[in-house]
Amino acid sequence: MSMELPERSRKSPTTSGDGGVSRGPGLLPEFDLIEKLRALEGGDPGVALGIGDDAAVLQPAPGCRLASCIDTLVVGVHFPPATEPADLAYKALAVNLSDLAAMGAKPRWALLSLSLNQPDRGWIERFIAGWRELAAASGLALVGGDTTATPGPVTISVQLIGELPPDQALTRGGAKAGDMIAVTGSLGGAALALTQLKAGQAPEPALLRRLNRPSPRVAAGRALLALATACIDVSDGFAADLNHLLTASGVGARVAVTDLPLHSSLTSLDRQRQLDLALGGGDDYELCFCFPSAARESVERRLAEVETPFRVVGEVTAENGVEWIGLDGRSVPTGYAHF
Ligand code: ADP
Ligand code: MG
Repeated sequence: MSMELPERSRKSPTTSGDGGVSRGPGLLPEFDLIEKLRALEGGDPGVALGIGDDAAVLQPAPGCRLASCIDTLVVGVHFPPATEPADLAYKALAVNLSDLAAMGAKPRWALLSLSLNQPDRGWIERFIAGWRELAAASGLALVGGDTTATPGPVTISVQLIGELPPDQALTRGGAKAGDMIAVTGSLGGAALALTQLKAGQAPEPALLRRLNRPSPRVAAGRALLALATACIDVSDGFAADLNHLLTASGVGARVAVTDLPLHSSLTSLDRQRQLDLALGGGDDYELCFCFPSAARESVERRLAEVETPFRVVGEVTAENGVEWIGLDGRSVPTGYAHF
């Protein structure tokens, strides 16, 4: 590291300009909370200056470009209020990692904005445990953030920065007529778990994990860098996200609904319900990607190397719009809309 930087400074609590988080019995003062979050910094040599100064100073690998994304989760909107803090942390990170995965980027750094009501010790410790689990596995270092007290709903914003090779990125925009359309993993499991929770039922642990602890397809995204012509992560329902990709590419598609990789818990449901969950449910955090048919063997090999199952579900067409094959009079849901 050639940059010369002073030892990490830690600002005194009296300099906190945001009013801080009120102290009280059992509660964690803002600066103790930030001190705890330092445990998530890791030992990344690219972090010239991390938590504790006014901004982080980061050193990317020579020649690479940066991909950056941010996602906000609001308890009560994106999560049932009773969700475990460890699951909140895990998912806040996972949804962002899924965005980096869809670009083919290598995760490096995270910034975390927390708006909390009562940041008690137990809450933050469980939050840190959930974060650490996924961040450690993804090679992510926490390098900064913001902490505020709010009387409103608990809100967690995570910004990630990842690295891309100088001349490569997966985007939504490169699909060509004749390309194959594929999707990793399975669809509809998280949506089924959510429906069961809302109905007061307890989902099977593996199904609940699909909802609370999604596995972002980071290795698959990187493996597809030189192979896929277009890629998007499936967060708002396969039908809606496929449409985003097609629109960005200026193409259409023909998709066989019988080829969709339904989550195994969906098999006992009636067909329309399966399609509603698999095509409209959301929260899958799989990758939908396109590639020329000549690249199929390479795609199979590279995704097998990173142990990522995938299924070809259709092909890109020159005409706009999606032709769904095998609907048998059933309908395709349009997906989750935020407003
Ligand atoms: P400032 O007032 O200059 O924005 P803060 O008091 O908000 O500084 O934060 C002090 C340091 O702690 C900064 O380095 C900031 O990045 C870090 N920090 C604050 N909140 C968090 C958080 N939730 N996660 C990680 N780092 C945080
Ligand atoms: Mg601040």
